[in-house]
Amino acid sequence: MIKTVLQGDFYTAVDPQTVAYHAQALIVIDQSGMIERIIESTDADYQTSRQAAQIKDQLVEVPKGQVILPGFIDLHLHAPQWPQAGLALDKPLANWLNDYTFPLEAKYRDLAYAKQVYPDLVQNLLANGTTTVLFFGTIHNPANLVLAQACMDHGLRALIGRVAMDNPEQTPDYYRDASSQVALQATEDFIQQLTALGQGQALAPIPVITPRFVPSCTPTTLQGLGKLAAQYDLPIQSHLSESDWEHHYAIEHYGHHDANVLDHFGLLTDRAVMAHATQLTLTDEQLVADRHTAIAHCPISNAYFGNGTLATRRLMDRGIKLGLGSDISGGYSVSLYDNLRQAVTVSQMRTDGVTNQDQGEADARISIRNAFYLATVGGGQSLHLPIGQIAPGFQADLQLVQERPLAPSDPIERLERLLYQTQSNHIQAVMVNGDFVKV
Ligand SMILES: [Zn+2]
Repeated sequence: MIKTVLQGDFYTAVDPQTVAYHAQALIVIDQSGMIERIIESTDADYQTSRQAAQIKDQLVEVPKGQVILPGFIDLHLHAPQWPQAGLALDKPLANWLNDYTFPLEAKYRDLAYAKQVYPDLVQNLLANGTTTVLFFGTIHNPANLVLAQACMDHGLRALIGRVAMDNPEQTPDYYRDASSQVALQATEDFIQQLTALGQGQALAPIPVITPRFVPSCTPTTLQGLGKLAAQYDLPIQSHLSESDWEHHYAIEHYGHHDANVLDHFGLLTDRAVMAHATQLTLTDEQLVADRHTAIAHCPISNAYFGNGTLATRRLMDRGIKLGLGSDISGGYSVSLYDNLRQAVTVSQMRTDGVTNQDQGEADARISIRNAFYLATVGGGQSLHLPIGQIAPGFQADLQLVQERPLAPSDPIERLERLLYQTQSNHIQAVMVNGDFVKV
């Protein structure tokens, strides 16, 4: 059964180098919110299909000057940190965590605070063209469920992790799991509570196994989380080789890089999405490739806390799954447009070097088309979900974007300019699972 037929110009990434442009095509969406068929304007049944949809009141003609893009997929975002997006970015990571982030996250024991923050975050994400997010929550399950409810109420596709953090040496006493047993039991409780909340809902959020990062968890907890991920066949998220400090913590405490530590505990799987990875060695990269683990590239956050830049071009060339993350609030912007632009900028600087003495690294550039791929197809592949493409068999998660006047005539140049210039006020409408949501 057809629900909606969208008529308009659209772009969808085909592979990391290629973006396909479809002029005035019909996107046929079924009752379940899935794209059933694309009818090109040159297809024999284009006119009859269009008329049939018009008669049945299913046709939505996208106004001239607007283009349709896949909704963006944010692979790394700390929901509780939304109130401090743009604060304390001049502090070292340890101060930023201890003086700002942990006290803020501890506030979510108060449900009223969660109810104030989470709907606002979800609405901002949708207003910026983001339709799927892989979230870190806090250690508080009731607040995490408020986030889940806000996503369902406003129509955002979500994967949500209850954060586990029980290492007394690296977490404050006011914001920590009391023991490994508590961390694991609360994680299992959250899996069941979230599954129950989403029962029968089209946009039921997916639970995610979430060790905060290697330093904040005891080995017993890391091991238990690896077992839970296997037992429930769930996605995993964490931070991987984010900074010098995190990288060296694993070496000092385990005698190995954190990629090996996570792998040892069954946490580096093909369902895992690991944020940052700026400090990976070539050997670590090979392990990530062998495990088919995805990397969430957070280019704004890395400028503040990464102690380096991601080898984006090399990871893409090696076929490692890669998407984009805003990393609120290590990154200040919830807009993936800002993040895809930063991904390109950083790759340019990596190529040319950051001082006039630095020769840079040959061929480290990515294009804005590559970044578009990461924000859409790369995200979908990383999450193993049929999202990020406008094609049959994919969910109708879309954004309608207003072009600026004087657009170039070449379709790919039109897209490039659109990606560089779009602000949230240019996003006219957002569809998730075949339904328009409020932006
Ligand atoms: Zn993070």
